[in-house]
Amino acid sequence: MKPTRVTFLGTGDAYCAGGRHMAAYVIESPEGSLLLDCGPTILASLNRHGLSAAPIDAVLLSHLHGDHVAGLPFLFLQYIYVEPRVRPLRIIGPPGVEERVNVLFRAMYADTAAGPLPFALEFIEIRPQETHRAGGVQVNAFRAIHQIEPPSLGFEIKGSDWKIVYTGDSGWTEELVERTQNADLFICECSFFETRMETHLDYPRIKANAGRFGARRLVLTHLGQEVLARAGEVDLEMAHDGLVVEL
Ligand SMILES: [Zn+2]
Ligand SMILES: [Zn+2]
Repeated sequence: MKPTRVTFLGTGDAYCAGGRHMAAYVIESPEGSLLLDCGPTILASLNRHGLSAAPIDAVLLSHLHGDHVAGLPFLFLQYIYVEPRVRPLRIIGPPGVEERVNVLFRAMYADTAAGPLPFALEFIEIRPQETHRAGGVQVNAFRAIHQIEPPSLGFEIKGSDWKIVYTGDSGWTEELVERTQNADLFICECSFFETRMETHLDYPRIKANAGRFGARRLVLTHLGQEVLARAGEVDLEMAHDGLVVEL
């Protein structure tokens, strides 16, 4: 069986600090292919790393901020004009996801959005503590400390013999400690270094809790300018665009 591979397509924050692309990760597993968040730089990321959008079975969205969802209209264009798609695309996200994605598509490509897509979109709303199947894997959501309504989500994503935990964008929550037990990979946002916010994580807070997380590998992502400027003081693994982790 092929190993499960996670490609970090976009490891920057909403400001593209350090020239990094915005949030997107592809999880390719024997169970299927899942795109985790879809920042507006998605096509640049896929093209730069020689990846096709065709195998993606489902898109999983942690929350509805632009740096995590605004790539979807471009992904739709890719499926219409560049890599024609006929099979349905499942999009799983917080309540309101369908309306938000449709509004985005209409605002960005009104002409294209006016006609039917050549493939079906299947929207599924997911709330904290709910479980759904996506791209052949099991997704269990938990509340991220970020947007309150609709709730931002973190995810516990499980295949037959692997588990990944993703914070999405989130401030500190003890749930991160519980969720990461026995995880193979913990993809942890780290927006700040000296700035402490309720709605994002900073390096000192992650470092102070690093021994409590139960994941075999912890990778910092969503890296902001403060963290990049002090990278020499960071002794946890920092992601870069194009990083591939095999579980
Ligand atoms: Zn956000
Ligand atoms: Zn973000």
